[in-house]
Amino acid sequence: MLFTFLSVGLMSCGNKGPADLILKGDRIYTMDAYQPKVDAVAIREGRIIFAGSEAESEEFQDSDTRVIDLQGFFVLPGLIDAHAHLSSLGKYLSQLDLIGMQSPGEIRELVLKEMEGTPESSWISGRGWDQNLWSTKKFPSWRDLRGTESHPVYLRRVDGHAAWVNKTVLDICGIDKNTTAPEGGKIIRDRQGNPTGVLIDNAINLVKDQLPATPPQEYRNWFKKAMKECNRLGLVGLHDAGVDTTRLDVYRELTESGELTMRIHAMLDGDDETLLQEYFQNGPLTYEDDSFFQVRTVKLYADGALGSRGAALLEPYSDDPGNSGLLIRDADSIYQTASLAIDAGFQVCTHAIGDAAVRATLDAYEKALTENPEGDYRLRVEHSQIIASDDIDRFAELKVIPSMQPTHATSDMPWAEDRLGPDRIKGAYAWRQLLNRGCKIPCGSDFPVESPNPLWGIYAAATRQDHQGQPPGGWYPQERMTVEEAVRGFTIDAAYAEFAEDIKGSIEVGKLADFTIVDRDIFRIPRAEILETKVVGTIVGGKIVYADLVMKDLIP
Ligand SMILES: [Zn+2]
Repeated sequence: MLFTFLSVGLMSCGNKGPADLILKGDRIYTMDAYQPKVDAVAIREGRIIFAGSEAESEEFQDSDTRVIDLQGFFVLPGLIDAHAHLSSLGKYLSQLDLIGMQSPGEIRELVLKEMEGTPESSWISGRGWDQNLWSTKKFPSWRDLRGTESHPVYLRRVDGHAAWVNKTVLDICGIDKNTTAPEGGKIIRDRQGNPTGVLIDNAINLVKDQLPATPPQEYRNWFKKAMKECNRLGLVGLHDAGVDTTRLDVYRELTESGELTMRIHAMLDGDDETLLQEYFQNGPLTYEDDSFFQVRTVKLYADGALGSRGAALLEPYSDDPGNSGLLIRDADSIYQTASLAIDAGFQVCTHAIGDAAVRATLDAYEKALTENPEGDYRLRVEHSQIIASDDIDRFAELKVIPSMQPTHATSDMPWAEDRLGPDRIKGAYAWRQLLNRGCKIPCGSDFPVESPNPLWGIYAAATRQDHQGQPPGGWYPQERMTVEEAVRGFTIDAAYAEFAEDIKGSIEVGKLADFTIVDRDIFRIPRAEILETKVVGTIVGGKIVYADLVMKDLIP
């Protein structure tokens, strides 16, 4: 197997000689401060060998060069999602889609329909329900799934931090009045103490442990299905926020067989001690002459999510006094793993949503960094959703990266202030405050929690409005990003967050030939129109991995 210790660097790349491919367009936005816009880009062997004027590009053209004239289209550096879950998207695309469903009854109908074509006793899985959209605003119960008892039914909440199951699943898993919730989890109960069928955070494991194991072949299918969808939406890469041994093996197979159509920066599942030990012993994994897959990062969880009140807050929830959420991992535990990771040459990314979790993570990082003052570690806080005012400065001081998801803000805005109250909300989704302090914000979607569409992310970042343009002027609009900052978040700053700004994230000579081609000039149109913008083509390493019908016509 061909892999080496970390050796990412520029391949020597002579500029002379013909290009394999030349792209011409009215506006090719480079995200390179030296020449923000060019007319033409020349590509050879997957790398950019020229970016500049159309006239000069002719020097690189010979009879074998493919030239694509992108009449009126606009080119961006390939968009990267800095926090997402690829296999979950594939699985999601293969599951019941409960997004936007307006009541438990509507969901029950869908399950009943699905049962018709599913053999008895086979599991029915779904994902995407959100009780905040229902008139009751209350968690559902197994009673809402009456009539489905012939099949185990397992439905995850939109944020993945709660599961709603039917009576059959409670019985199979032996979850009853006497079951105690595991640490970091909660079993929702009725007045008599009986489980209602909703399990929070670690309590979901009571069911997950009983689920039939997924065969590796299924993961391959999920990865491929998800990559296809991502390419269609203009993504050329992603940071996969937590992969276990099985997924790593499948990624490695797909890398070696050349089947990846996106570049993957995979984060190791930090709860798997054996996996960490193995990788800490061998060091980061990168492939020689292949920039499609790297493993140099550990993912940890400090808390849960805000929607299910699992996020760890310094003070109780404003709409649930007495509940401050749950710290899944404390500062000391994060510090222990972070310092082992740093010694072994790994980056650490810790999921922290509540202000208590963010603080615990910063405390842990500060301690680890103080002991390792030299070096460039790029420790990340995934989500960084609610930050206490005292902690905002610490991100810049410690050079810790807030990795954020613009669409989380616009999905959470209808109820976030109920959870947090008028003061804490000022430190929530606080992009502008972080940018003003010089932080780079890699942007992601956390798909399949949100849509993988990066243009929706850019729209959310630049407007803080939903797709109907609500609220007018934007939700806490002082925290908005500019369109340019948002695009940076999905390109060069995402690349920085994976130590890859030398080879991707902008259109510059020597970098990988990854591009996202869109039908509107997102820097000039009214921000509302970003939502209507369509990806017409996606190019990864000089290869066209997606082209819509119009773009197909332009390819010679
Ligand atoms: Zn995530």
